[in-house]
Order: sequence, then C-alpha cells, then structure tokens
Amino acid sequence: MSFEDLGLSAPLLRAIADAGYTAPTPIQSQAIPAVLTGGDLLAGAQTGTGKTAGFTLPLLEKLASAGPAHPRVIRALILTPTRELAAQVEESVRVYGKYLSLKSLVIFGGVGMNPQIDALRRGVDILVATPGRLLDLHQQGEVNLRHVSFFVLDEADRMLDMGFIHDIRKVLAILPPEKQSLLFSATFSDEIKALAERLLKSPRIIEVARRNATADTIAQKVHPVDRDRKRELLTHLIERHDWHQVLVFTRMKHGANRLVEYLDKHGISAMAIHGNKSQSARTRALSEFKAGTLRVLVATDIAARGIDIDQLPHVVNFELPNVPEDYVHRIGRTGRAGAEGEAVSLVCVDEEGFLADIERLIKRPLPREVVPGFEPDPHAKAEPIQLGRRVLHGAPGARGSEPARSPSPRSAAPRNGRGTPRKADDRPARSRSR
Ligand code: AMP
Repeated sequence: MSFEDLGLSAPLLRAIADAGYTAPTPIQSQAIPAVLTGGDLLAGAQTGTGKTAGFTLPLLEKLASAGPAHPRVIRALILTPTRELAAQVEESVRVYGKYLSLKSLVIFGGVGMNPQIDALRRGVDILVATPGRLLDLHQQGEVNLRHVSFFVLDEADRMLDMGFIHDIRKVLAILPPEKQSLLFSATFSDEIKALAERLLKSPRIIEVARRNATADTIAQKVHPVDRDRKRELLTHLIERHDWHQVLVFTRMKHGANRLVEYLDKHGISAMAIHGNKSQSARTRALSEFKAGTLRVLVATDIAARGIDIDQLPHVVNFELPNVPEDYVHRIGRTGRAGAEGEAVSLVCVDEEGFLADIERLIKRPLPREVVPGFEPDPHAKAEPIQLGRRVLHGAPGARGSEPARSPSPRSAAPRNGRGTPRKADDRPARSRSR
C-alpha cells in the first residue's frame, strides 16, 4: 500500500515525500481512509506507530477540500494531555500542511496567554490544545468552538490518568453535537470505553499491534543491582559503552533531580524534564538532547509521553514503573522505524514484583545480566516503595501494582539504604498542563 492509494491529494503527498516517508504505517493505512470516508473512529495506537499522521493527514485533507472559511474559524480541535505532545502534534500539522493555506495554533499552560490570544484573534483553522488552557481561554471568551466539525482526543488513556476527565467533559459540552470525532488511546480500559460511548457515534474501531507485540528491534535486558548502587551502575554503563543520547526514566520528579545532580557531578551532562520544570526549561532540555549536546535526559513517565525522538539508541529504566504498561511506553522510545534500540532496566530487590508484572504483560521473560562488580547482595531484603503519599510493595508476591494502605505513620515511613526515612515531599509525577 502506498500513500497515493489512500485518497490524499497532491499537496499532502508532496509534504509526505518531503518528510521522507515511503509507505504508510499500519495505523495510517487503516485510519486515513476511515477518516476520509467520515464517521467516528476509536483507534488503539501508541506513540511511535505513526498515529499522529494517521489523524492529521485526513484532517488536513478534509479541511483543505472543504475550502477556506471566511472569516477563519476553528474547524478542528485536537486535545492532548501534555504540552510536549501538543507542540509536537501542531508541528506535525505544520509539516504535513506546508503546501496548504490552513492555519494552526498550539495553546497550553505554563506560558503567557497574550501571544495565544493574539494568534486566536488573527484566525485559526486547526487548534491543538491541552485541556486546562483551552478551558481558561474559552472562559475568557477568546476561543470560539462553535464551528468545530472535527475533534480529536489524543492519548485519551493518559488524559484520564492525569485526572483530566472533568475538563474533557467540559470541553465536550462546549463542542457542537454534529462533528466527526476520533479517539486515540494506547489502552482500552473500562473508563476509556465509557468515554468512547459518550463521545463517539457508532465508531469504526481499529487497533494496531501494540509495540510490545512487535518490538523485535528492541534489545531488552535487566541488570539486577542493589538499590543503593544504581547511580553508580548507570554511570558505569554510560562510560563503559560510551553511550550518548540516553533517555533515563525515574518514577518520581525528586528522584529525577537527584539523579541529574549525581550525573553532572560525575562529568555526564544531564537534565531532567518533568511537570515541575518550566516550559522553557523542558523545551531547552529536549532540544539539546535532540541535538546531541546533552548526553542524558532524565524523565518521569508523564513528561516523557509523546516526546518524539527518532531512533533513540538507549533507554534506561533507572526505576521500573509500577504500572506495567508504562514499561512498554518507555521502551517504545527506542528502536523506532526499524532502527536498533536497547532498553535496559536496573532492578533492585524491591522491584521484583513490578518486573514480574511487566513480564506477564509482554508475555516473555526479560534476560537478566549481572554486571561484574555490581553483583546484588543475595541477602538483601525488599523494602516498600514510597510513591508520593502511597506506599507500594513491589517485592515478589506482593503484587506491585496494588497500592497498600499505610498501616501506621511509623511503618509508613520506609527507609532507604542508609537508614534515614525517605523524603515525603516527593509527589508522583502527575502534573496538569494548565
Ligand atoms: P507518532 O506515533 O505519531 O508519534 O509517530 C512516530 C514517528 O514516526 C514520528 O517521528 C513520525 O515522523 C514517524 N512517521 C510517521 N509516519 C511515518 C511513515 N509513514 N514512515 C516513516 N516514519 C513515519
């Protein structure tokens, strides 16, 4: 199948050729004709599958063929959970729409409102937004959504994870009832199904293979290591193998900051991106990382969602995620588009249960490889993991993903290896994009 077969017109085909794409990805070959035909769509696809082009290309096609609106009004709205994703989606709209005369704009929180308001007043065809800022600007009368005929909810599962359900409902209530709606989600939980039922009218359902079923190009391995020696091991791996462009995941913002400090002190350039960083700091970290001047980017799951970095050679799980699906999202950052990638996980005894959950999800065991000099203590005892106000038991048999209630304030303060209580101000990295 080629892009020509999908019903896209010459200006889009030219832009696709400029982008260097030779053939549509599976989600694109299914979604593009479906959207062009009309009707709602429920699509199961993760970042890295080419889903963004899967909805932006037919959207551009439809708006372009409908002709310009006078005056310009917002005809398409794309809602995304994070600022990074919003910026990237809008960038895709620009890239694919470069031979069309449609105007797009991205709005998100954390930056000044006035430039966004000015741009909205000048007229926009396609608006990409995070929910909080969209609602704020709508409340101020700066966003008119009455002419929206095309609505995309991107990464809907992540939106729900981030607590955006009320904002989504508010947005849905503002939108006109007659429109074409697309819902993209990596997973189909009951909540997503309920949202789909509310939003979509007899949708077509398409689902492409999850990356965990197809990610053969990603070499995955586990390095068992003691909890207190992870930082040392990471430094060792980076130096020993001369890794550049390493994306490192931690569970918590605080842990990300501490790791960056440690790496910097050991001569490895590193920056963290997470919800507490300003937008400009995140943008700078990302662009330096992409340019290759920054060696290590440390991210939490939420901040990393939707970061589009092609052919990232190394992903390191400094800490395993307690949600096994997040593992799949994390390693999906590497080995894209057929390129070789490597994902290593540094796993201590506390996380053995998380590891078992992940292996159950991806339906295969991950090879363990002890790094000489970093042999874990065979007698080490598992400790509970503090995740914000939650205490997780990630040890084997303790079912890592089940949050346990803290029995008493005393026992709720887990201790790190040095016998001091862990900081309680370390909130889970769930941030809102207002
Ligand atoms: P996405 O899943 O939308 O985040 O896209 C993942 C990456 O795949 C992006 O870097 C796109 O530029 C790239 N991409 C999208 N479609 C294609 C295609 N048909 N051929 C090659 N690369 C693509």
